[in-house]
Amino acid sequence: MTINTQTDSHEFDRIISTTSPGLLAKLTPNLPEDYLSQLKKLKSMGAVVLILSLKHALTNKHYWINLPKADGFPFLILAEHTNFINPKHYGGDHIVYCGDYLEADHPYFEMTKEELYAKFLPFLSKFNSDFNESWLKDSWLFKELYAQPVPFVNHSQNIPPLKTPMEGLFWASMSHVYPWDRGTNYAVEIGRRVAREAVNEI
Ligand SMILES: Cc1cc2nc3c(=O)[nH]c(=O)nc-3n(C[C@H](O)[C@H](O)[C@H](O)COP(=O)(O)OP(=O)(O)OC[C@H]3O[C@@H](n4cnc5c(N)ncnc54)[C@H](O)[C@@H]3O)c2cc1C
Repeated sequence: MTINTQTDSHEFDRIISTTSPGLLAKLTPNLPEDYLSQLKKLKSMGAVVLILSLKHALTNKHYWINLPKADGFPFLILAEHTNFINPKHYGGDHIVYCGDYLEADHPYFEMTKEELYAKFLPFLSKFNSDFNESWLKDSWLFKELYAQPVPFVNHSQNIPPLKTPMEGLFWASMSHVYPWDRGTNYAVEIGRRVAREAVNEI
């Protein structure tokens, strides 16, 4: 089958796509209508993650803290990664991950790193009253609209097959993970499964 880029076109025996259902539908609009409508039925949530590198440890040896958003916390998860992996592997920095799972139209997706940091910052002193802005060494912001598939009732019957109706095109994604929640182990398992199917077709 052929992949067309803006400047070029390439021929392949088999193609394995690992994108979100939405992106697959956008990249291959000539998939049959019933398959495209199956893709649109697969729901998911996005994620926004602000990673901070700090001069000092923030929490008292806690790795992962789930936060009650109903109590006003502006994010859902605070994970102090360097309470799990020694800070010596990060040049002595303390790495803190502030994460949230959100609907695609949430205002966080439009906000800059500086805007989100200003929103999250006042809450960091709830974990350590000594915390102040001088502790911050660096920060990184990651946003992803397809981060967490949300399975509804009868999801198992709505999972599209790995082999798409388009000759030579296979698709493997987080939405194929069932009956477990998505995770890297299942990504490896599905990766092997789709590779086997693609090779067997040649
Ligand atoms: C915030 C967060 C926390 C998580 N925490 C955990 C955890 O603690 N433990 C765990 O096991 N799992 C965790 N997961 C889930 C885990 O990351 C996923 O299950 C896994 O990465 C899925 O693998 P994948 O190969 O299907 O997708 P991905 O790893 O997303 O790979 C898809 C690939 O497709 C590429 N791609 C996208 N568009 C295109 C394009 N147009 N052309 C070419 N390539 C493209 C992307 O760049 C990407 O490399 C977490 C996920 C999120 C979002």
